[in-house]
Amino acid sequence: MGRGKLLSFVSVVLVLMCGGCRRKDQGQPAASKPADVNGSRIVAADREPGNWMTHGRTYSEQRFSPLKQINDRNVSQLRLAWSYDLDTHRGQEATPLVVDGVMYFTSAWSKVFALNARTGALLWSYDPKVPGEWGVNACCDVVNRGVAVWNGKVFVGTLDGRLIALDAATGTPVWKTLTVDRNSRYTITGAPRVAKGKVIVGNGGGEFGVRGYVSAYDAGTGKLVWRFYTVPGNPSKPFESPILAQAAKTWSGDWWKSGGGGTVWDAIVYDPELDLLYIGTGNGTPWSEKYRSPKGGDNLFTCSIVALRPDTGEYVWHYQEDFADDWDFDSDEQMILADVSIQGRPRKVLLQAPKNGFFYVIDRTNGTLISAKPFTYINWATGVDMKTGRPLETALARYPGGDPAPVVPGPLGAHSWQPMSYSPLTGLVYIPVNNVGFKYKSAENFEPKKLAPNYGIDVVAAGMPQDPNIKKAILDTVRGKLVAWDPLEQKQAWVVERPGPWNGGTLSTSGNLVFEGTAGGNFEAYRANTGEKLWSFAAQTGVMAGPVTYAIDGEQYVAVLAGWGGVFPLATGEVSFQSGRVRNISRMLVFKLGGTANLPALEPREEPPLLPPLPNRASAATVHKGEQLFQRYCAACHGDVAVSGGVLPDLRYSSALDGDQWFSDVLEGMLKSEGMVSFAKELSHDDAASIRSYVIFRRNQTMAQKKLAAAKN
Ligand code: CA
Repeated sequence: MGRGKLLSFVSVVLVLMCGGCRRKDQGQPAASKPADVNGSRIVAADREPGNWMTHGRTYSEQRFSPLKQINDRNVSQLRLAWSYDLDTHRGQEATPLVVDGVMYFTSAWSKVFALNARTGALLWSYDPKVPGEWGVNACCDVVNRGVAVWNGKVFVGTLDGRLIALDAATGTPVWKTLTVDRNSRYTITGAPRVAKGKVIVGNGGGEFGVRGYVSAYDAGTGKLVWRFYTVPGNPSKPFESPILAQAAKTWSGDWWKSGGGGTVWDAIVYDPELDLLYIGTGNGTPWSEKYRSPKGGDNLFTCSIVALRPDTGEYVWHYQEDFADDWDFDSDEQMILADVSIQGRPRKVLLQAPKNGFFYVIDRTNGTLISAKPFTYINWATGVDMKTGRPLETALARYPGGDPAPVVPGPLGAHSWQPMSYSPLTGLVYIPVNNVGFKYKSAENFEPKKLAPNYGIDVVAAGMPQDPNIKKAILDTVRGKLVAWDPLEQKQAWVVERPGPWNGGTLSTSGNLVFEGTAGGNFEAYRANTGEKLWSFAAQTGVMAGPVTYAIDGEQYVAVLAGWGGVFPLATGEVSFQSGRVRNISRMLVFKLGGTANLPALEPREEPPLLPPLPNRASAATVHKGEQLFQRYCAACHGDVAVSGGVLPDLRYSSALDGDQWFSDVLEGMLKSEGMVSFAKELSHDDAASIRSYVIFRRNQTMAQKKLAAAKN
């Protein structure tokens, strides 16, 4: 290479490297390539509050932003800056990341998008082409909660268990690795985190008989660095780590045959100060301990927070929140790290509001309990024993006797994956709270299946009764709320009541604001210290995901991924209508002061029609058999007692009820690309016919109820 050529080569490199130099003038670090994020940059995230570089903005996952251009004095002028429509109508749960003017996020089916964060223009998108039939392994919709970025790469965990590294500039895969055994029903819906050059990823499947674990992969190469199993495997084989030999003493029977559970499906938090990695673990599988660990035992490490060494995956400490889980009380919910003063002493704490309804303040240096109090109404426990950390269970908690026990909360949790946020300015934690119980009764003669969720619970007894008075009494107890919780006083500072559960994650800011989407279809801002409502935007769809805020060239934006779905509208049938009967319009919404964009007008929605009854010659016994099979195989997606929450088809209105199409759909997998797998391996033609008889029965019953209601009006 001649001297002239060398010079021009150098200048081309300089020009290429200087793509992000402009930002240096605005006090932000120069970026030589997109998503040029590393550990020191995330640790110092408060020096560049215009970016949102990791799932909870900082490693502490407080979801608090120092930005305050948008504040409690001017938020009424917040308007839509741009929106970006997505190509699916399934649930949207992702938190976007924003780095140096580029937004990275995921949609349903683990699809990844990179947009210009100022304009919403698409830079690239990536579809991992998750096979539709893998959807049958997802307990809770085909959702994804976001990406991680590191050193020029974007990482996504896919529903079918792959971890994929994409080139942040182009969206082209750099490496892919399979993180699960495809013979088991694992899914990934959580956002990976990156710490010390390792991508940390867990998985779900606690409703489908899997063994939980968390893995660390080298961010550069995709090679597995370590794996920590959260529950012990078959004791006739060597345990993977000494701590699992200890954990095995807390199990009984042949637990490993059904996997054990303890899945790490959401919260993974790195603590750079203590060099610890905290993981939250899920329920035991199946839910009912009777079928999991029949002679008792606490079942470590299900429903726990476990601290590991990020370099090796070595166990350091754990805190179990639910002992011998019987309820699907996952402890996977978000963990916030904070430094606070308790009785004049500085303490490094971990804050969590898991499904079981207790707000935990834990000393994260050693896992000891500082305090735990219920953050909403619960009836399964009266408190937590401060010496042992054990919940003080009430008489109905373990549903003794043969009757279904109305336990609050139920599997939806008093708080689920929707992120909470902590403002160090107000000292409050903003929690999206669910108030919804569940009728627990152990299944009789439970047998695990490969094509159905395996709760070990009597799913017919859990169904919504059709007596209007009983139904009303149940629905009247279903609520949601936004709670501002004082973690040190362990009491509520203020509350916003919502008509139903499953409202959105929260963001709090230095502008004395809290943002939250609602299940009823709004995106709202509240004054952080008082709860006064300051702003609302009609989002046309339910908003569940966690909002973020960022800045470009000195202008602040607020972003939230809108779109209704997840387990609540899929599985809970009529209960989900309490939240507002919204539809799914999947779309990124971005706001700024004085924005001028508008959403397209919403097409009016037609009410489901009154249909003529279909002849149903099936015996009551056949309809009952159909009900049992429906609740076991179909209800997790098509809704409790065949009432769809509006995201997936309501089978009572299906044209396939009349004719042979039903059998093609149920037994031949005609709709497998959309997640409707063939059930022929476990359901006979007779079974499919009895399910159809039950759905026809429910259709005719629904139409009769509607006619009666119309006549009364
Ligand atoms: Ca679970």
